[in-house]
Amino acid sequence: MDPGVKFTVLSLFPEIVDAYSASSIMAKAVARGAVTYRSVNIRDFATDKHHKCDDAPYGGGAGMLMLGEPLGRALEAVGAVPKDAVAQASAETSADVQRARVVYLSPAGRIFDQALAREFSRERELILICGRYEGIDQRIIDAWVDDEVSIGDYVLSSGEVAALAVIDATYRLVDGVITAESLDEESFSDGLLEYPQYTRPEVYGTLRVPEVLLSGHHEQIRQWRLCKRVEKTLRLRPDLIRRGLEARTFNAETIALINEFESPSD
Ligand code: SAM
Repeated sequence: MDPGVKFTVLSLFPEIVDAYSASSIMAKAVARGAVTYRSVNIRDFATDKHHKCDDAPYGGGAGMLMLGEPLGRALEAVGAVPKDAVAQASAETSADVQRARVVYLSPAGRIFDQALAREFSRERELILICGRYEGIDQRIIDAWVDDEVSIGDYVLSSGEVAALAVIDATYRLVDGVITAESLDEESFSDGLLEYPQYTRPEVYGTLRVPEVLLSGHHEQIRQWRLCKRVEKTLRLRPDLIRRGLEARTFNAETIALINEFESPSD
């Protein structure tokens, strides 16, 4: 079996992320070898007797910053390769150096989305650095980090929650973790949100399951679902429709539905 992505998490509180990897579908994916997970406590790489991992920022200012040295040693210990070593090695040997992609979870980063999750799901290894306090020393970013990734325009108190979001959205896209059919018409799979879904009972209060879903007519159900996806995306996320139209990723049937909703005939 393809070993899938290896997730390596560097954190001052790895137990937060460990608990997730040991539960539910992720635990099954790890047990089956579809993905690999390990975590490292950055504090284990502090050399002083108090295992200090933070200090005041140069130039003053509020809060503390994570020290670069313990983090750098943790990166070395998990086999990360500094960026300049790659440039040097490929200049000398013209061979591609296989290295893990190093990601720092940061509110200043590129916004994480389904496309980046898909890209990450094809990586051999992701090393995720979780910040705390006011963040990490810039020299760690300069020397080691390939991608700064944010999970949204808000500030969390630490990177573990963001790492969990990245791991979760990524591992489920690795081959064999979830059936391809489940991923097919999910939100964002092809630039549209998912259609509304219903389960038993047929009547909830005064609300009935749409008749077409009870008909057993597969083609009508497919058409209804596509129509609902377009209508819902136009209503809730018109930016996705604009992007899809610009990138020409929609098929003719979807474009016809968009046009119908945008310029109803009567
Ligand atoms: N001083 C930093 C700033 O203003 O950009 C915020 C530091 S935040 C309190 C501490 C850590 O939480 C960061 O180092 C980062 O790892 C994580 N973090 C906070 N918000 C995040 C976000 N939106 N996406 C990803 N990570 C985030």
